[in-house]
Amino acid sequence: MIVNIAIDGPAGAGKSTIAKSVSKELGFIYVDTGALYRTVGLNALRLGKDTKNAEEVVPTLEGLDVSLRFVNGEQRVFLGEEDVSTAIRQNEVSMAASNVSAIPRVREFLFDLQRDIAKKNNCIMDGRDIGTVVLPDAKIKIYLTASAEARADRRFKELTEKGQNVDYHKILEEIKARDYQDMNREIAPLKQADDAILVDTTELNLEQAIEYMLKTIKEHL
Ligand code: C5P
Repeated sequence: MIVNIAIDGPAGAGKSTIAKSVSKELGFIYVDTGALYRTVGLNALRLGKDTKNAEEVVPTLEGLDVSLRFVNGEQRVFLGEEDVSTAIRQNEVSMAASNVSAIPRVREFLFDLQRDIAKKNNCIMDGRDIGTVVLPDAKIKIYLTASAEARADRRFKELTEKGQNVDYHKILEEIKARDYQDMNREIAPLKQADDAILVDTTELNLEQAIEYMLKTIKEHL
Protein backbone atom coordinates (compact mmCIF):
# COMPACT_ATOMS: atom_id res chain seq x y z
CA MET A 1 0.00 0.00 0.00
CA ILE A 2 1.51 3.31 -1.15
CA VAL A 3 1.37 6.16 1.36
CA ASN A 4 1.36 9.80 0.29
CA ILE A 5 1.76 12.77 2.57
CA ALA A 6 0.88 16.23 1.25
CA ILE A 7 2.47 19.38 2.63
CA ASP A 8 1.34 22.78 1.44
CA GLY A 9 2.11 26.27 2.63
CA PRO A 10 3.60 29.62 1.70
CA ALA A 11 7.18 30.28 0.60
CA GLY A 12 9.78 30.12 3.32
CA ALA A 13 7.73 28.26 5.95
CA GLY A 14 10.43 25.56 6.07
CA LYS A 15 8.50 23.00 4.01
CA SER A 16 11.46 21.61 2.12
CA THR A 17 13.95 21.48 5.01
CA ILE A 18 11.41 19.87 7.32
CA ALA A 19 9.99 17.51 4.69
CA LYS A 20 13.46 16.36 3.64
CA SER A 21 14.38 15.45 7.18
CA VAL A 22 11.04 13.78 7.96
CA SER A 23 11.05 11.75 4.74
CA LYS A 24 14.55 10.42 5.48
CA GLU A 25 13.35 9.33 8.89
CA LEU A 26 10.31 7.57 7.38
CA GLY A 27 12.18 6.13 4.37
CA PHE A 28 9.92 8.03 1.96
CA ILE A 29 11.06 9.99 -1.08
CA TYR A 30 10.69 13.74 -0.87
CA VAL A 31 9.14 15.48 -3.85
CA ASP A 32 9.53 19.26 -4.12
CA THR A 33 6.96 20.30 -6.73
CA GLY A 34 8.04 23.95 -6.61
CA ALA A 35 11.16 22.79 -8.50
CA LEU A 36 8.95 21.87 -11.46
CA TYR A 37 7.35 25.31 -11.68
CA ARG A 38 10.78 26.86 -11.21
CA THR A 39 12.11 24.83 -14.15
CA VAL A 40 9.29 25.99 -16.43
CA GLY A 41 9.97 29.56 -15.22
CA LEU A 42 13.73 29.23 -15.78
CA ASN A 43 13.20 27.92 -19.30
CA ALA A 44 10.84 30.80 -20.15
CA LEU A 45 13.31 33.34 -18.73
CA ARG A 46 16.16 31.86 -20.75
CA LEU A 47 14.04 32.19 -23.88
CA GLY A 48 13.43 35.84 -23.05
CA LYS A 49 9.70 35.41 -22.49
CA ASP A 50 7.45 37.55 -20.31
CA THR A 51 6.62 34.97 -17.60
CA LYS A 52 3.33 36.69 -16.77
CA ASN A 53 2.07 36.37 -20.33
CA ALA A 54 0.33 33.05 -21.08
CA GLU A 55 0.55 33.66 -24.83
CA GLU A 56 4.33 33.80 -24.54
CA VAL A 57 4.76 31.00 -22.00
CA VAL A 58 2.37 28.34 -23.34
CA PRO A 59 4.33 27.77 -26.62
CA THR A 60 7.48 27.09 -24.52
CA LEU A 61 5.75 23.94 -23.17
CA GLU A 62 5.78 22.35 -26.61
CA GLY A 63 8.28 19.50 -26.47
CA LEU A 64 9.56 20.68 -23.07
CA ASP A 65 11.15 17.83 -21.13
CA VAL A 66 11.03 18.39 -17.35
CA SER A 67 11.79 15.41 -15.15
CA LEU A 68 12.63 14.54 -11.57
CA ARG A 69 15.30 11.96 -10.76
CA PHE A 70 16.07 10.61 -7.34
CA VAL A 71 19.64 9.88 -6.29
CA ASN A 72 19.80 8.25 -2.83
CA GLY A 73 16.36 9.66 -2.14
CA GLU A 74 17.55 13.17 -3.08
CA GLN A 75 15.60 14.91 -5.79
CA ARG A 76 17.32 16.43 -8.82
CA VAL A 77 15.36 18.29 -11.46
CA PHE A 78 16.26 18.09 -15.15
CA LEU A 79 15.51 20.26 -18.12
CA GLY A 80 16.16 17.79 -20.91
CA GLU A 81 19.52 16.29 -19.90
CA GLU A 82 20.64 19.38 -17.95
CA ASP A 83 20.54 19.18 -14.16
CA VAL A 84 19.04 22.58 -13.25
CA SER A 85 18.67 21.90 -9.50
CA THR A 86 21.02 24.79 -8.64
CA ALA A 87 20.03 27.19 -11.44
CA ILE A 88 16.36 27.20 -10.37
CA ARG A 89 17.29 28.60 -6.94
CA GLN A 90 18.29 32.02 -8.30
CA ASN A 91 16.17 34.78 -6.85
CA GLU A 92 14.59 35.94 -10.12
CA VAL A 93 13.40 32.39 -10.80
CA SER A 94 11.15 32.47 -7.68
CA MET A 95 8.87 35.15 -9.07
CA ALA A 96 9.06 33.66 -12.59
CA ALA A 97 7.87 30.33 -11.10
CA SER A 98 5.01 32.06 -9.32
CA ASN A 99 4.09 33.86 -12.55
CA VAL A 100 4.03 30.77 -14.77
CA SER A 101 2.25 28.74 -12.09
CA ALA A 102 -0.86 30.92 -12.48
CA ILE A 103 -1.20 29.78 -16.12
CA PRO A 104 -3.66 26.82 -16.33
CA ARG A 105 -1.79 25.08 -19.18
CA VAL A 106 1.41 25.07 -17.11
CA ARG A 107 -0.40 23.39 -14.20
CA GLU A 108 -1.94 20.80 -16.54
CA PHE A 109 1.46 20.17 -18.08
CA LEU A 110 2.98 19.29 -14.68
CA PHE A 111 0.00 17.48 -13.18
CA ASP A 112 0.55 13.92 -14.52
CA LEU A 113 4.22 13.97 -13.63
CA GLN A 114 3.37 14.67 -9.98
CA ARG A 115 0.54 12.14 -9.88
CA ASP A 116 2.69 9.39 -11.42
CA ILE A 117 5.45 9.78 -8.85
CA ALA A 118 2.92 9.67 -6.01
CA LYS A 119 1.22 6.58 -7.43
CA LYS A 120 4.47 4.64 -7.50
CA ASN A 121 6.25 5.79 -4.34
CA ASN A 122 5.73 6.36 -0.66
CA CYS A 123 6.38 10.07 -0.69
CA ILE A 124 6.10 13.38 1.03
CA MET A 125 5.15 15.86 -1.66
CA ASP A 126 5.25 19.57 -1.00
CA GLY A 127 3.88 22.55 -2.89
CA ARG A 128 0.86 24.84 -2.89
CA ASP A 129 -1.99 22.64 -4.18
CA ILE A 130 -0.91 19.12 -3.23
CA GLY A 131 -3.61 18.45 -0.62
CA THR A 132 -6.27 20.36 -2.54
CA VAL A 133 -5.68 19.35 -6.18
CA VAL A 134 -2.80 16.96 -6.89
CA LEU A 135 -3.33 14.41 -4.10
CA PRO A 136 -6.80 15.04 -2.66
CA ASP A 137 -6.74 11.50 -1.22
CA ALA A 138 -3.37 11.79 0.50
CA LYS A 139 -3.25 9.84 3.75
CA ILE A 140 -2.03 12.88 5.69
CA LYS A 141 -2.27 16.53 4.74
CA ILE A 142 -0.37 19.27 6.48
CA TYR A 143 -0.59 23.01 6.02
CA LEU A 144 2.73 24.39 7.18
CA THR A 145 2.94 28.09 7.76
CA ALA A 146 4.66 30.87 9.73
CA SER A 147 4.19 34.63 9.88
CA ALA A 148 5.62 36.56 6.91
CA GLU A 149 8.01 38.34 9.31
CA ALA A 150 9.36 35.05 10.72
CA ARG A 151 9.86 33.69 7.20
CA ALA A 152 11.62 36.87 6.05
CA ASP A 153 13.80 36.78 9.15
CA ARG A 154 14.92 33.20 8.43
CA ARG A 155 15.64 33.97 4.79
CA PHE A 156 17.57 37.09 5.78
CA LYS A 157 19.74 35.09 8.20
CA GLU A 158 20.30 32.31 5.67
CA LEU A 159 21.48 34.72 2.96
CA THR A 160 23.56 36.82 5.37
CA GLU A 161 25.31 33.67 6.60
CA LYS A 162 26.15 32.91 2.96
CA GLY A 163 27.86 36.30 2.83
CA GLN A 164 25.21 37.98 0.68
CA ASN A 165 24.41 41.62 1.29
CA VAL A 166 20.61 41.68 1.48
CA ASP A 167 17.91 44.03 2.68
CA TYR A 168 15.42 42.58 5.20
CA HIS A 169 12.56 44.83 4.06
CA LYS A 170 13.04 43.88 0.43
CA ILE A 171 12.92 40.18 1.37
CA LEU A 172 9.76 40.75 3.41
CA GLU A 173 8.12 42.59 0.49
CA GLU A 174 9.05 39.78 -1.92
CA ILE A 175 7.59 37.15 0.41
CA LYS A 176 4.37 39.11 0.79
CA ALA A 177 4.09 39.65 -2.97
CA ARG A 178 4.54 35.95 -3.71
CA ASP A 179 2.07 34.96 -0.95
CA TYR A 180 -0.50 37.33 -2.40
CA GLN A 181 -0.01 36.06 -5.93
CA ASP A 182 -0.09 32.37 -4.90
CA MET A 183 -3.17 32.77 -2.67
CA ASN A 184 -5.21 34.90 -5.03
CA ARG A 185 -4.77 33.26 -8.42
CA GLU A 186 -7.85 31.77 -10.03
CA ILE A 187 -6.51 28.28 -10.51
CA ALA A 188 -5.33 26.06 -7.63
CA PRO A 189 -4.68 28.93 -5.22
CA LEU A 190 -2.69 28.23 -2.08
CA LYS A 191 -5.10 27.42 0.74
CA GLN A 192 -5.44 24.99 3.59
CA ALA A 193 -7.40 21.87 2.56
CA ASP A 194 -10.45 21.26 4.76
CA ASP A 195 -8.90 18.07 6.12
CA ALA A 196 -5.34 19.39 6.53
CA ILE A 197 -3.61 19.70 9.88
CA LEU A 198 -2.35 23.22 10.54
CA VAL A 199 1.26 23.50 11.71
CA ASP A 200 2.48 27.02 12.50
CA THR A 201 6.26 27.25 12.95
CA THR A 202 6.45 30.96 13.82
CA GLU A 203 7.51 30.24 17.38
CA LEU A 204 9.47 27.04 16.66
CA ASN A 205 13.11 26.58 15.74
CA LEU A 206 14.03 24.04 13.08
CA GLU A 207 14.63 21.11 15.43
CA GLN A 208 11.35 21.75 17.23
CA ALA A 209 9.47 22.01 13.93
CA ILE A 210 10.92 18.72 12.66
CA GLU A 211 10.15 16.96 15.92
CA TYR A 212 6.60 18.29 15.94
CA MET A 213 6.00 17.27 12.33
CA LEU A 214 7.34 13.77 12.88
CA LYS A 215 5.18 13.30 15.94
CA THR A 216 2.10 14.61 14.11
CA ILE A 217 2.70 12.38 11.08
CA LYS A 218 3.39 9.25 13.15
CA GLU A 219 0.17 9.81 15.07
CA HIS A 220 -1.79 9.78 11.82
CA LEU A 221 0.00 7.04 9.90
O1 C5P B 1 8.02 26.08 -3.36
P1 C5P B 1 8.72 27.09 -4.23
O2 C5P B 1 8.90 28.42 -3.58
O3 C5P B 1 9.98 26.56 -4.83
O4 C5P B 1 7.73 27.30 -5.47
C1 C5P B 1 7.93 28.29 -6.45
C2 C5P B 1 6.58 28.76 -6.96
O5 C5P B 1 5.95 27.69 -7.69
C3 C5P B 1 5.57 29.15 -5.89
O6 C5P B 1 5.66 30.52 -5.53
C4 C5P B 1 4.23 28.84 -6.53
O7 C5P B 1 3.76 29.93 -7.27
C5 C5P B 1 4.54 27.72 -7.51
N1 C5P B 1 4.05 26.43 -7.06
C6 C5P B 1 2.73 26.11 -7.31
N2 C5P B 1 2.25 24.88 -6.97
C7 C5P B 1 3.03 23.97 -6.38
C8 C5P B 1 4.38 24.28 -6.08
C9 C5P B 1 4.86 25.55 -6.42
O8 C5P B 1 2.00 26.92 -7.85
N3 C5P B 1 2.52 22.77 -6.09
